Amino acid sequence: MSEMIPNKIYLTEQEIPQSWYNVRADMKTKPAPLIHPGTHQPLTADDLRPIFCDELVAQELNETDQFIPIPEEIRSFYRMYRPAPLMRAYGLEKKLGTPAHIYYKFEGNNTSGSHKLNSAIAQAYYAKKQGLTGVTTETGAGQWGTALAMACAYFELDCIVYMVKISYEQKPFRREVMRTYGATITPSPSDTTNIGRKIRTEFPGTTGSLGCAISEAVEAATTNSGYRYVLGSVLAQVLLHQSVIGLETKTACDKYGIVPDIIIGCAGGGSNLGGLIAPFMGEKLRGEKDYRFIAVEPASCPSFTRGRYAYDFCDTGNVTPLAKMYTLGARFIPSANHAGGLRYHGMSSVLSQLYHDGYLEARAEEQTAVFAAAKQFARAEGILPAPESSHAIKAAIDEALVCKKTGEAKTILFGLTGTGYFDMKAYEQFNDGTMTDHIPTDEELQHGFAALPQVSENG
Ligand SMILES: *Cc1c(COP(=O)(O)O)cnc(C)c1O
Repeated sequence: MSEMIPNKIYLTEQEIPQSWYNVRADMKTKPAPLIHPGTHQPLTADDLRPIFCDELVAQELNETDQFIPIPEEIRSFYRMYRPAPLMRAYGLEKKLGTPAHIYYKFEGNNTSGSHKLNSAIAQAYYAKKQGLTGVTTETGAGQWGTALAMACAYFELDCIVYMVKISYEQKPFRREVMRTYGATITPSPSDTTNIGRKIRTEFPGTTGSLGCAISEAVEAATTNSGYRYVLGSVLAQVLLHQSVIGLETKTACDKYGIVPDIIIGCAGGGSNLGGLIAPFMGEKLRGEKDYRFIAVEPASCPSFTRGRYAYDFCDTGNVTPLAKMYTLGARFIPSANHAGGLRYHGMSSVLSQLYHDGYLEARAEEQTAVFAAAKQFARAEGILPAPESSHAIKAAIDEALVCKKTGEAKTILFGLTGTGYFDMKAYEQFNDGTMTDHIPTDEELQHGFAALPQVSENG
């Protein structure tokens, strides 16, 4: 049977999902609601509409509809780069000498180089449909900013990106891709917002952080009419859009009778993992099937494995709503790990609840081990993986090596979220042998926990 499975399983354009799948509809314990930072009351649609587009507010609060139709304008954009192939890692299996069958869903086949375009195009569409002038956002490593710039170019919307200053200076090529698509890029902290000016006065010479850039982007959206804020991960609406990854994967698996035993994804804010596992998790939640799900995070930013399950701010400037999530604290500044897309202090509320309820496992990996796995994968499979994606590769290889020991032919599926062409500085350090690992001490983590907001639910 396995000989009959092609190296790449491509679906037809007709098989691109018609609807996104909303896993919250099948969760018995729903994720905790977003709450107001002052009153601690659950946020209503009216509270959220000044920040997010109306339709996205509705999606954020929708816990009951299993399926939400994908508008035709979005499906026609998806057709430019989807369906994404489900690959069989024959080369890697052979190199490892494992009886396991390894599959990966490859999301790097678009100019932005990652899965983030799946949600960027949806968020840009709803902004356009509402008649807005533009959207604001933050970007760290640059993948989300690039995806959003592409999406806004397509719908002719203004795209204002606050880019963490250090990345703005160190990743000039990402910046130029965004500018080519027409986005306006401001290094953060900037003097264009109150919060940016405040941070610059308090911390002269700071090179910025993701949490600070979020504060600036939210302020810019809420103080300029015709603009809303958009976010590339963490929110339930983003996981919803990313379910397109899992739905395609499920269709491809069903076509060939592939039943994964283990499904693995890297976890920054949780959107690619949440999207990949969504339909499989639905089966598990409804008691129809069982799968093992594994989230892989950097040891330098271990929200799931060492974080607290608590209400916290999503940004450093404390302007955003509070979300209940596994968090290291909004004040926690992770060390300079090269997987920029995984350097976020918190985790999706949806995945946090599933993890809390025991539906999902998590593990943390050190970056040198992750780059070793990336190199092994690149040489066996040809694709140069993003450092973020390589966390999932590391766990998939480890599980395949367990199979080699036990002789079990398990089926392992993982998400290959993107390519690493803009991360060659990191690869250079790894190849030179100068890359180091930093694991925060308990004392360092304690600083982040100490700054968690006082909310009765936090105990
Ligand atoms: C942003 C990013 C991630 C992490 O974000 P999630 O929301 O956790 O999926 C992973 N891989 C790549 C390539 C990214 O750009």
